[in-house]
Parts: sequence; structure tokens; C-alpha cells
Amino acid sequence: MTFTTRFAPSPTGPLHLGHAYSALLASDMATDQQGVFLLRIEDIDRSRSRTHWENQIYDDLEWLGLSWPSPVLRQSERLHVYEAALEDLWSQGLLYPCTCNRRDIAAAASAPQEGAPLLGPDGLIYPGTCRNAAIRTGAMPRNVPLRLDMEQASRVVSPEIEMSFLETGFGPNRETGQISFSRADLVNTIGDVVLSRRDMGTSYHLSVVLDDAEQGITRVVRGRDLFEATRIHILLQILLGLPRPSYHHHSLIRDDIGKRLAKRDDARAISKYRADGASPEDIREMVGLHHR
Ligand code: GLU
Ligand code: ZN
Repeated sequence: MTFTTRFAPSPTGPLHLGHAYSALLASDMATDQQGVFLLRIEDIDRSRSRTHWENQIYDDLEWLGLSWPSPVLRQSERLHVYEAALEDLWSQGLLYPCTCNRRDIAAAASAPQEGAPLLGPDGLIYPGTCRNAAIRTGAMPRNVPLRLDMEQASRVVSPEIEMSFLETGFGPNRETGQISFSRADLVNTIGDVVLSRRDMGTSYHLSVVLDDAEQGITRVVRGRDLFEATRIHILLQILLGLPRPSYHHHSLIRDDIGKRLAKRDDARAISKYRADGASPEDIREMVGLHHR
């Protein structure tokens, strides 16, 4: 199998130094292994994605000296694939509709008998309000958020299947190498994540595993903030019969006051550095990568 990495930005704002680091690292790793570097546009959030930002992504990445084969995979063209996977999980009885909003979840999670609310990769761990009452038979409901019943899902994974992944970078607590996790971890520290969001017909977690499989990604290179969510991705790969890549979580490039770069913060946009006369080599230097 050809060593294959990818960069998967969302066209919802300008690319920052952090994106440049991620893209350059993924491309360098592919080059070092005589592999392939692919691009994917994660535009499932139709309300925030813009063609203008997508075009600027191509422009910035080319300027940085990156190249990738065409056609680029765009998530908005794969909604039928996500739907088929949801149908698969629905028919396995693993999904249920839930329209609880953030406030409902916060209230239920902080109810006295629940103890301290716990945080998972997607925020507050869902307290399970709708889990038992929701109807799971018949046709899969449309235009309603669908959650994964984590307890049920981890139960259908046969005991021989190892739930683990190879980490070639580091997690937030220096985790590296073969990372194993238990069914109890999934239930207690992740819980019933949303796999289909309203108005999207999918979610980040669902599309990312389907698209990494479609693109034949063998090494996922991305920010350390997604380390914890990787367990969701491994579980989905098992449930959907998809190959399991290895993962390289890299450090997050921080700005001067140490806060994570947010897309709404234009200060460190690549385009700003370009306009100020920086060269691609300057960008490499700023993110701590060697010249090529
Ligand atoms: N679109 C995601 C992001 O920009 C990509 C996450 C991933 O690489 O898995 O954060
Ligand atoms: Zn609910």
C-alpha cells in the first residue's frame, strides 16, 4: 500500500500558520516515504463553507510549494456515501434521534444525581436523555440529529477485535506508540456522539473515517486536539468495515499569548504573511520545519 497522507481543511476561513504546519508536515512525510500527499475539502457545513475560501486554500497551498493529485475530494459531493453508512448503522440498531440542544444537555448533565458533568471530545458527554425512549425501528428519520448508542456500539464489536491505533506523533499527555482503549473508555469518556447533524446529514466523525478510507489514507497527520476523538474514528472503522490508518498528531502552533489559533482570528492568516512579503521558506521557519 502506498504511504498516503492528507490535508483536510474546511473552507470556512483563511488558512493560518497552524494549517500551513499541518499541510507541510503531511506533505514532507509523504515525500520522505516516496508516498502521496492528498487534499480534501471538508465542506459539509454548508452554512459556513464558501467557494472563496476554498479557492484561497488552493492558492495558499500552491504558494507554499505543495502539490497534490486531482481531482480533490470534496465532502459536499459525498453526501450519499455518508447517508449509506448511516443507514448501515441505523439497521444495526446503533443510532437514535435526539433533538436535545446544548442547554438541555448541560441541564441534564449537571442534575444532582448525575455527579459532575464530564467533558468528551465533542464537549459535554451526553447524559443519555433520549437513548431509551427514542424509536429505532422503521425507516431512518431525516433532518433530525442522530446519535450513536455507544454502549450498544461497543457491545457489537466482537471481543477478538483489538481497539487500538498506532500513534507516530504524540497525544496531549505524550501518548505514543500503540494506543489501546477499552469499551468502558468509549462509554465513560466519549458517550453517545452525534453522527448526523441537522442540515448536514453527516458529522465530522462520520465523514472523516469514510473519506480517509475512500482516499486510501495510511497515515492521518493532524493536530493534537483530535487525539481523543481518534477512538471514535477507530470504533466507526470497525463498525463500518473500513481499514484502519495510523495516526500522527502534531503540536498546535500557538500565537504569542498562547491561545489556539481560531479561524475567526485573521492575525496569522497565511495570506497576511504573503501580503507582508514573507516567503514560503519564512513560513517553514516560523512553524519549525526544515527547508526543502
Ligand atoms: N477539517 C478538519 C479541521 O480542519 C480536519 C480534521 C482532520 O484532519 O481529521 O480541523
Ligand atoms: Zn435528546
